[in-house]
Amino acid sequence: MLAMAAVAVGLHARGAAAAERPRVLATTTVVADLVRQVGGDRVAVECLMAPGIDPHSYRATPRDADRLARADLVIASGLHLEGRLADLLAKLGKRVPVLAVADTLPKERLLEADAGFQDPHVWFDAALWSLCAAPVADALAAIDADGAPAYRERARDYAERLVALDGRVRERLATVPAERRVLVTAHDAFRYFGRAYEVEVVGIQGTSTEAEAGLRDINRLVDLVVTRRIPAVFVETSVSDRNVAALREGAASRGHAVALGGRLHSDSLGPPDGGAATLEGAILENVETILAGIAPPSGGVAPAPP
Ligand SMILES: [Zn+2]
Repeated sequence: MLAMAAVAVGLHARGAAAAERPRVLATTTVVADLVRQVGGDRVAVECLMAPGIDPHSYRATPRDADRLARADLVIASGLHLEGRLADLLAKLGKRVPVLAVADTLPKERLLEADAGFQDPHVWFDAALWSLCAAPVADALAAIDADGAPAYRERARDYAERLVALDGRVRERLATVPAERRVLVTAHDAFRYFGRAYEVEVVGIQGTSTEAEAGLRDINRLVDLVVTRRIPAVFVETSVSDRNVAALREGAASRGHAVALGGRLHSDSLGPPDGGAATLEGAILENVETILAGIAPPSGGVAPAPP
């Protein structure tokens, strides 16, 4: 595989240094960050989906298929997050090693979702996501044996950082009284976050954006938001705002003004030059956005999203 890749890179007239590094293609920005944290400078990491892209509905282009086939290793998120890439990845797996990181997690730590599937949004439980670092190190070591000690050490360091982050998130959220810790979002991407950090989480759409929210879903949420006087609802960077707007309109028509709590990173990290380019940064930004929305200063209004 490595020899073939070297030939391909040579044909594309790349430098010798680039040719020596294994080419790893990650599906989502969250997974690409994980691979960069574990792989460091030894690997060339590319990401299939750009920041802001919704992985549930993403379809591969012919160019994507070509990029996937030329990679030395493909790392996906798994648990059917990339629903429309499943067939392509299965076929590809016969020729290129493919690792679906979340598929390696202990089943008893996973949440059930719709139609017998498990909820794929595991990365917002930082301690749970830390368990994905070691399998990435193993997969990298399998294509680059010389790098194995470095990958394993970086994976351990990164896992420790995520566990420390887990503690920090817990402390920040504990500053808000339990009855105010309610997170209403566009789709159900935060159930692991809610379980880990004791936040009640309600999504207008289910765990996949593929299923449309009906009028009944919206009305059920309007009831909840009005009767519990929930101060803010949140939009997501990779999901349409339409349902959140309908929810706010519905609540307003019943005399309860709901603030727009801000824009959360859900299934995608932010652009490469921003504070949310890494999962650690995105989680911290989310936590502050959530806190500003659910615990506004007395009499204050939560800030509008950028
Ligand atoms: Zn999602």
